[in-house]
Amino acid sequence: MTRIFNFCAGPAMLPLPVLEKARDELLDFNHTGMSVMEISHRSAAFDEVADRSEACLRRLMSIPDDYAVLFLAGGATTQFAQVPTNLATANRPGAYIVNGSWSKKAFNIADRMGLAHLAASSEQNGFRAIPEPAEWDFDGSHAYLHYVSNETISGVQFQRPPEVAQTLVADMSSDILSRPVDVSKFGVIYAGAQKIICQAGFTVVFVRKDLLLDLPQVIADLHSWKVQEQKGSRLNTPATFAWYIAGLVFEWIEAQGGVERMAELNRNKSERLYNYIDDSSFYLNDIPAEFRSHMNIPFKMTNESLHGQFISEAEAAGLSSLKGHRSVGGMRASIYNAMPIEGIEALIEFMADFEQKTG
Ligand code: PMP
Repeated sequence: MTRIFNFCAGPAMLPLPVLEKARDELLDFNHTGMSVMEISHRSAAFDEVADRSEACLRRLMSIPDDYAVLFLAGGATTQFAQVPTNLATANRPGAYIVNGSWSKKAFNIADRMGLAHLAASSEQNGFRAIPEPAEWDFDGSHAYLHYVSNETISGVQFQRPPEVAQTLVADMSSDILSRPVDVSKFGVIYAGAQKIICQAGFTVVFVRKDLLLDLPQVIADLHSWKVQEQKGSRLNTPATFAWYIAGLVFEWIEAQGGVERMAELNRNKSERLYNYIDDSSFYLNDIPAEFRSHMNIPFKMTNESLHGQFISEAEAAGLSSLKGHRSVGGMRASIYNAMPIEGIEALIEFMADFEQKTG
């Protein structure tokens, strides 16, 4: 068996012990004689999977009891629509900080629904920064302030949540469980799963319970967080196997020492790579240090014509999916919780060899 280091932004690599456990349990889960994929989402065996997974996530993130935890289908993009659907009205739109492609998408979807207000944008500088908080334009007439805690494409991350009096809503798709977060500061946190939690198509959503509101009759129950909470995230058939894998990943994180330990390891990994890039005159990351992501590290070479060769030779050397997003170009190393330090060391070694060979 050959496992490579997968630097893909998502779907991303999962911890090997999780994959091994899923493999071992694939044909006969918990003496049911079936795979988790084959058991009813309303069976006692699946109740146990769902409860265990939620309990572990609640422990990891110290989620207060007055928050609902939902496990929904549809990815983070579905939440781009469900956030305004559940919280905003035409008279009380949501305010949006736009500091990258994903926050722009979230804003655009809410805007098309007539439910968004642009509080600030850093698009004019190519999304290389977070707009200065003093310049954010929003107030108590807005239902919430939405932001994306880590912009996966540009590699720009909020180092801490914004301090605001309004209901805070965060898309944490690409940094959930990578560092401690005080959930009680948020009205809503959501995250698409395919980077840090499990496979694609699955989403976790935390909602403070006073924000579980009744929706107008014309809106399908499937989009109502309140109905989903009442139905235990099982209004219809949920993504059962994803839910199960999510639980295994939560338990893996707990066994590693929890979110604090993840943060320590992630800081160490990202610092190693940034330091290497900053010390080199061959590679470059142009995001100011105070906005740099610990999860997604884009970089370029001063000689851009070498990018294609770098990416294909890296792939051949077992360092997969380093191609930067098409809107940014260059390379990007996505180094979520499951990426071991050995992956960073192998990447740095490859980068040094490549520079020596071509520089
Ligand atoms: N938000 C962020 C921060 C993302 O990185 C992504 C996916 N890369 C999305 C939202 C969209 O997620 P999905 O494809 O699950 O809808």
